[in-house]
Amino acid sequence: MTSTARSTLTTLSLCTALIVGCAQDAPESVDLAIRNVTVIDAVNPVRRSQTVLIDDGRIIDIVDSNTAPETPASKKIDATGRYLIPGLWDFHVHFTFDKRFTDAMAGLFLYHGITNVRDTGGLLEDLLPVIDTLRSAGSNAPNIWYSGPLLDGKDVVYDGVNFPGLGIANPTPEAARANIAEIHAAGASFLKIYEMVTPEVFAAIVDEAGLRNLPIDGHVPLSMRARDVAPQVQSLEHLRNYEMDCVSDPELWLAARQAELANVANEPGNVLRSRLHTLQRLTAIIAEDPAVCAETTEALKATITVPTLRMNSMDLYVPFARDDFDRAMDLIPASVSEEWRAARDALAASEEAVDTTFAEWSLRRTGELHLAGAPIAAGTDTPIGWSIPGYSLHTELEQYVEVGMTPLEALHSATVKPAEFFGLENEMGQIKAGFLADAVLLSADPMDDIRNTRSIEAVIHQGKLLPRAHLTRLVTP
Ligand SMILES: [Zn+2]
Repeated sequence: MTSTARSTLTTLSLCTALIVGCAQDAPESVDLAIRNVTVIDAVNPVRRSQTVLIDDGRIIDIVDSNTAPETPASKKIDATGRYLIPGLWDFHVHFTFDKRFTDAMAGLFLYHGITNVRDTGGLLEDLLPVIDTLRSAGSNAPNIWYSGPLLDGKDVVYDGVNFPGLGIANPTPEAARANIAEIHAAGASFLKIYEMVTPEVFAAIVDEAGLRNLPIDGHVPLSMRARDVAPQVQSLEHLRNYEMDCVSDPELWLAARQAELANVANEPGNVLRSRLHTLQRLTAIIAEDPAVCAETTEALKATITVPTLRMNSMDLYVPFARDDFDRAMDLIPASVSEEWRAARDALAASEEAVDTTFAEWSLRRTGELHLAGAPIAAGTDTPIGWSIPGYSLHTELEQYVEVGMTPLEALHSATVKPAEFFGLENEMGQIKAGFLADAVLLSADPMDDIRNTRSIEAVIHQGKLLPRAHLTRLVTP
């Protein structure tokens, strides 16, 4: 952070602490006033008939519309009967997984009310130009945080040969430290650990991240147990390899994986990984030992789980079977939608039986983790697995409610919890004086039905009002 940025932040936090004095210093006229709105966020209770005053990218005050004198504003909205929630996060996206999607993603996110995204894996040479483009688009693109490449082991799953190139090799602790230095210098604000690392490389990454004050996201490495990984990282994706630590004698299962990971046959990383999943995933789910699993759940309270439930449960809840999927597909690049429609038709015509064991386990496990108090954040892995940028985040939230969250808890997972990962919970995720002005104006109450997060009339991003017509232009090529 530059010293200028730091002093600006200091001024702003003083302003937040002394909001009354701050309001006295506030400009005569603010940029935007949203009047008569019901304000909802996951920390503060529902507040009706409020006027939200926005200036210079921040919410500067929230006052009672019925009693407070009207503050002059360059733009005013009468939001009677409307609801204002914080701008949403998609906490797991890949801008560079499918280059046909890259240019369209920013607009699709904003169109669907997502003002913040975390890119959880892409090669720096692909990603950095995208970051530049997004940041120069200002309020016409979501804020982005990125990890750079997946930090994989000696064998790399996303190697750019067998799978799209998203990962890099870390055969030794020294290699990992050198890679992290480069990634950090390139502006990454967290690290992503992947599945093929050894425990030694994992330890080096954790140590290096600590020295650099970078949070860590990851998949549970196949060479380790979920309960040992969870307390050392700040988030974990897809419930990946959690089931392997829910069996009796988990050390025996671990030893079997470690023997395979020696990779004497020199298989490609993606083949070796799939083989290990095939060997242990469904067998572990079937062999689940509830007592062991309860211990693992306890350990998982120490990190944020990003279940990507929509993707994990795809075999049960087929994305294209939804009534709204086809319409959402109209907004994505034609080269992709044509391919997806063809794949959909082929799948619909297939008579092959589908095993839904993993999907059912993912739903149950997410519900269990939530019930136990394990933190959960909402991410989709878009555009992987039929995941339409923006749209799929809302279907993810629907599933959280299906497995036991209240709508307010689902909102928490897509606002407050992601902000906490980056230590930004006092800056974003609430509709509150002093907070960044990222918000979504809805025509229906999301507390009645979480699907109402899609009734978007306008998005406020970086303090700018983006009405529906503007959002539509962002998704019109
Ligand atoms: Zn991912």
